[in-house]
Amino acid sequence: MKHNFKRKFFFCVMACFLTCAAFALEPIKTLIITGQNNHNWKVSHIAIQQILENSGLFEVDFAISPAKGEDMSDFVIDFSPYRLVVLDYNGDSWCKETNRRFLEYLRKGGGVVIYHAADNAFPAWPAFNQICALGGWENRDENSGPYVYWKDNQLIKDYSEGVGGSHGRQHEYVLNAHHTQHPVVKGLPEHWRHAQDELYDRMRGPGNIKDLIYSAYSDKNTGGSGREEPLVFTVDYGKARIFHVMLGHAGETLENNPAMQCTGFQVLLLRGSEWAATGEVTQPVPADFPTEETISLRKDYKEK
Ligand SMILES: [Zn+2]
Repeated sequence: MKHNFKRKFFFCVMACFLTCAAFALEPIKTLIITGQNNHNWKVSHIAIQQILENSGLFEVDFAISPAKGEDMSDFVIDFSPYRLVVLDYNGDSWCKETNRRFLEYLRKGGGVVIYHAADNAFPAWPAFNQICALGGWENRDENSGPYVYWKDNQLIKDYSEGVGGSHGRQHEYVLNAHHTQHPVVKGLPEHWRHAQDELYDRMRGPGNIKDLIYSAYSDKNTGGSGREEPLVFTVDYGKARIFHVMLGHAGETLENNPAMQCTGFQVLLLRGSEWAATGEVTQPVPADFPTEETISLRKDYKEK
């Protein structure tokens, strides 16, 4: 009798262990939403898919919307299979049912990555502006919320009047770390050089940044704001895990796409995606990460 109990206990423990192990090994089911953007979404959503899937950690589906101006009422998204949603969308409003389901997904603690111009979308949807914390363009101004930037060792909220969202000419620039113990950034260099990209500045919104991960100095000499701009951060939004990365302006083709071919961008996307989906980052710091002086590219969207 005693022996039998032990055996049952042993099988129970083994079953639990195998279930957990299988869950950990299973790719993270991911949905990229795209189909409308003032950017080259036909390049960006494939680049993101390749970055995520080449890591072996993610399995990607697409939700591609109707074209701009077309009927959106049938673009109803089922979020239930997914642990991660990546927004690469800047266009017409989703239908009410998709909006409702997206908020429900987040309310239950869903993981989201806000990528580059996705934070331009939906200026008149208050919940979406909370989900992004900061956004730009689409007539954003002082009514959208304060400017938020790093000054005197803290994030400043500046309520002065003016446009929300701009950038100077594309150039290489250095990212500066803040919350260095956050799982997304832990072990990565505190300063590293990003390949040629836009540097978003003067973004506005509710400003509910949770953990600032990287900022960069937007130099007036390149047409910038003269401020240290928050570019990579998490968002304080209930139980949801939201990773917002403003880097990664898509190029003309997958081959000519330096901002997304940057190893730093790809590693941050991978680590931010894993964190948003699971709350942890299991990926080691790669040997090819850029330094403060030298950029690094993964032209084929995978680790060499
Ligand atoms: Zn852009």
